[in-house]
Amino acid sequence: MERHGFTFSKALGQNFLINPSVCPRMAEAAVGEKNQDTPCGVLEIGPGIGVLTKELLLRAEKVVAVELDQRLLPVLDETLGGFDNLKVINADVLELDLHQLIAEEFEGMEVVVCANLPYYITSPVIMKLLEDRLPIRSITVMVQKEAAVRLCAEPGTRDSSAITVAVRYYCDPELLFKVSSGSFMPAPKVESAVIQLKLREPAVHPKKEETFFKVIKGTFSQRRKTVLNSLSSSLSLDKNAVRDILKAARVDETSRAERLTLEDFANISDAVDDWSN
Ligand code: SAM
Repeated sequence: MERHGFTFSKALGQNFLINPSVCPRMAEAAVGEKNQDTPCGVLEIGPGIGVLTKELLLRAEKVVAVELDQRLLPVLDETLGGFDNLKVINADVLELDLHQLIAEEFEGMEVVVCANLPYYITSPVIMKLLEDRLPIRSITVMVQKEAAVRLCAEPGTRDSSAITVAVRYYCDPELLFKVSSGSFMPAPKVESAVIQLKLREPAVHPKKEETFFKVIKGTFSQRRKTVLNSLSSSLSLDKNAVRDILKAARVDETSRAERLTLEDFANISDAVDDWSN
């Protein structure tokens, strides 16, 4: 990095992994056992100087790594130049059409996502990967420990938030292992953890997904308030209307967002739709 005159960008969340045991563990978890019947393609977000990328390249048929920082391209050329199963794309992952990318780059492969995520875009990246309904098997990512706890929490428990419920709708999350801040350069102020999200069919079937997510966001936007009050203000509905909705959904109007389950959110969502029709 010194030779390339590279300096870290805090704004781009550049904390590079320097603990040699972490990348093989992550890559192993993401790609799984070698010699599977179907070839594996990996989409990596933010390869940095390529430490995780290398471990993925050793295990998968192909890796496509999306890196926003143009200054890292010559470094990656040097560190990973010997691999012919790598493609680096210089782009902002949030701006990319990932359906198109997967169709063009990973034909006939089972696709997984693996990344040491830039922490400033953890939630938008995860939500994009899930909401876009991409044909991917799993997402194995390093995130801040607090985010890991939130993403892997059980809905209806104190650690849950809007993203907890959204994640559980699309997949089964698991916290794989924790990583200390000394494993990075520069060391971040917070601890980290690697989580894995295994995608599956949605866990509940609300009539309208749009209403379902509106209800989740609205309820958690004022998580200390009762569901009656938070829904009334977030959906701009009269309290008596919300009372009827909650009654139809069989949800106690004094509950707080963190106590509600996926089924409760689906029932409220359907009751809102029935009420507005
Ligand atoms: N994978 C490397 C490692 O583990 O050492 C680097 C991880 S570092 C936490 C995050 C990487 O994501 C950086 O290389 C940064 O430049 C890149 N990045 C930041 N924002 C991005 C974006 N919107 N799209 C793609 N890459 C991004």
